Amino acid sequence: MSEKATIRHDWTVEEVQALFDLPFNDLLFKAQTVHRQYFNPNEVQVSTLLSIKTGACPEDCKYCPQSGHYNTGLEKERLLQVETVIEKARQAKASGSTRFCMGAAWKHPADKDMPYVVEMVKQVKALGLETCMTLGMLDEGKANQLADAGLDYYNHNLDTSPEFYDKIITTRTYQDRLDTLQHVRDSGMKICSGGILGMGETATDRIGLLRQLANLPVQPESVPINMLVKVKGTPLENVEDLDHLDFIRTIAVARIMMPASHVRLSAGRESMSDEMQAMTFFAGANSIFYGECLLTTPNPETHKDLQLFKRLGINPEQRISVDDTVQEAAIMKDLQSQQDQGIFYEA
Ligand code: SF4
Repeated sequence: MSEKATIRHDWTVEEVQALFDLPFNDLLFKAQTVHRQYFNPNEVQVSTLLSIKTGACPEDCKYCPQSGHYNTGLEKERLLQVETVIEKARQAKASGSTRFCMGAAWKHPADKDMPYVVEMVKQVKALGLETCMTLGMLDEGKANQLADAGLDYYNHNLDTSPEFYDKIITTRTYQDRLDTLQHVRDSGMKICSGGILGMGETATDRIGLLRQLANLPVQPESVPINMLVKVKGTPLENVEDLDHLDFIRTIAVARIMMPASHVRLSAGRESMSDEMQAMTFFAGANSIFYGECLLTTPNPETHKDLQLFKRLGINPEQRISVDDTVQEAAIMKDLQSQQDQGIFYEA
C-alpha cells in the first residue's frame, strides 16, 4: 500500500480549486486511493439520530423547518423524557447502530435542561452505544459538563463558507460557531462538523467551507455533508437544485482533504438514488444516519439501507473495544437476531 496521505491544515484556495477541477474519474480515483489508506473501503459507520426537542428554535437558519421564524407546519415537541430517549436508543442499537445522536432545537442549552441531557448521555452510554449531541452553542462550562458525563461527540456544523454565512443565518456569527468548536475540542470531546450543499452557494463557498473544516487545528473526526432538503415554508424552498455530480465531487474533495475523518452522508439522502449513494461511498463517504427520521426530514428506511449495503457488499463498521466482550456479545446477538428475521446479511 502506498504511503498514507498527510493530514494537512494549510490548504490554500488554489489547491482545493485544483482538486475540484480534476476530471471526475481522476478525482474519484484519488479520493478512493486516500480512503483506502485510512479506512476499510467496505465499511460504513452507522448512526441513528433522534430529535429530543423539536421546533420553535430562536435561530433563523434559512434551511431549517425547526426555526421559529418560519411557518412550516412542523409539530413542536418539548424536551423528551429521559426514559423515552433511552427506549429509542435501545431500538437503534437493536437495528445495528453504533452511535446514537440526540439533537435539540436550541440556540444553546439552558441551565435547567443540563441535568436531563447529562442523564441521557450517561444512560445511552451505559447501553454500549457511542453518544453524540447537537444542542446549539456551548460555553466552556457546558462543554465540560457534557464531556464529564461521557459524551463522545458534539455536532456543530459550520454550514457554509464564512462569506456566504450571513445570507443563511443572521442570529449568530461564524465566529460563534468556531468558538463552540473550540470549547468542544478543549473539553476533550470529539467534533462532528460539516455543512450543507445546495443552498445557492457558489463553488467558491464550497471550497471555503472545506478549507475551514480541514484547516482547524485538529480536523473534525466526523464531517457530515448534507444536501439541502427544501422544506416548504422555509426561505430556501425554491432554491435551484444542486447538480448531483457537484455533490459527489465535494464528498471526494472532503475525503482527500480530511483523510482520517469519517465523511458522513447526511440529510438529503432520501432524494438520492441507490446508484448515487454508491458513488458517494466510492468517493469516500463512510458514515450514514439511519432510522426513520433525520431530525425532521425524511431518511430512507432502515431496511432499504441494509438492502443497499448488502448489494454493495458493505458492512456496518463496529466501534466497540475488542476487550469489551460483553458489549461485543450483545451486538453480535442483535445482529444475529436481525439476520434471523431476514433483514440482515452475512457479515
Ligand atoms: S438548524 Fe439548529 S439552530 Fe438553526 S434553526 Fe434549525 S434547530 Fe435552530
